[in-house]
Amino acid sequence: MAEITFLGSCREIGRSGFLVQNGGETLLVDYGVKFQDPPLFPDKVPVDELQGIAVTHAHLDHSGGLPRILLEDPDLSLFCTPATRDLTVILLRDMYNLSRGRLPFDRTDITRVRRQCVSTTYEETVPLGHSFDMTLFNAGHIPGSAMVSVRVDGKRVLFTGDFNALESQLMPGARNNLPRHDIVVTESTYARRTNPPREEIEADLIATIEDTMKRGGVVLIPAFAVGRSQEIMCILERYGVTKKYPVYIDGMARDVNTILMRHPGYVMSPHLFERAVNRIHVVESHKDRVRAVKNGGVIISPAGMLKGGAAHTYFKMVHDNERNSIVLVSFQISGTPGAELLARRKVTVGRRTFDVDAEVYYHHLSSHSDSEGLLKHLLSIPGDPVFYVVHGESESCDALAEQLHERGRRAIVPETNDTFDI
Ligand SMILES: [Zn+2]
Repeated sequence: MAEITFLGSCREIGRSGFLVQNGGETLLVDYGVKFQDPPLFPDKVPVDELQGIAVTHAHLDHSGGLPRILLEDPDLSLFCTPATRDLTVILLRDMYNLSRGRLPFDRTDITRVRRQCVSTTYEETVPLGHSFDMTLFNAGHIPGSAMVSVRVDGKRVLFTGDFNALESQLMPGARNNLPRHDIVVTESTYARRTNPPREEIEADLIATIEDTMKRGGVVLIPAFAVGRSQEIMCILERYGVTKKYPVYIDGMARDVNTILMRHPGYVMSPHLFERAVNRIHVVESHKDRVRAVKNGGVIISPAGMLKGGAAHTYFKMVHDNERNSIVLVSFQISGTPGAELLARRKVTVGRRTFDVDAEVYYHHLSSHSDSEGLLKHLLSIPGDPVFYVVHGESESCDALAEQLHERGRRAIVPETNDTFDI
């Protein structure tokens, strides 16, 4: 009988990893990191039985441990979309540069992700060993993101990864009309939240920019390099902001743009994205940064929670002028400078705390489905599957399981290293 083991992301966000076993063969889905000191990984898995690793998407909580497994067997293959492969490599390099040597692999092992990857497109079915076949479906979360569907021992198991059922200016929504499944392993990040309609948030963002431009200020948008920065670019292009005002992009988002230009099939409108890329000014040096702030306009720069990156440099230049605006566009984890900014209008950088005179706004563009979206998408999967709820704070995992129970569905919240028969 086949089995599934939950290696991580149980009642937590971070270190995703799932092992499917049948007879003497295994398949790994995701192998991520949890950021703490030292970084935490799922338990190691023996590589001799492994038929391959499937990766849902590039975010490090799903991909950050891959080199650790790949380095043990150079013949082991990784299956993901080409966009996920390229984005994973730059995120791993960034993590490595910040890690101060505290990772269980070295910089050269990161190239194994590229070397050992068999790029796989959405809807393509790949046989793995004698026991498995695997299909990727668009997950709508970030470019290249996928749900992984595994067929084993006559059953079908879906790993949703992170998903967003709704389309955005950057991404089409997750695949509708999924085939029947017997088991669904689902994320639950926003199982206790309701997101306002996206058009409303987009309109608010544009209004903030227009107001700031009218009073002669600068808009600083600290945004994640992968996905969020490009979504902001597409929104600004769609609403004509890039034509009216200078828009600048900085940090790792620049490399992500280059990657997505190579893989235009993974964005909603390649034409809109290309127009945005061509119109936006790429910041290359510190001199450019000073000039961008002096000239005024909109600056998109990682990091999304003001945790380092070029956004720090800009923050120091814009925080003390009330004509400027700082616009946060993603969830701000407590303890980060972004969360501090929202709560107290202060930001601590190093040993200094800055009072903020600039206007502060929060226009949250989520890349996860909210509670209603999660439920609607999950309930639409045919086959009356058993749900295993992971990838959320403990209360969110319980909340989604409870909502599924209320609708007469079977739902389980697994603990780390629990194994279940399929
Ligand atoms: Zn993610």
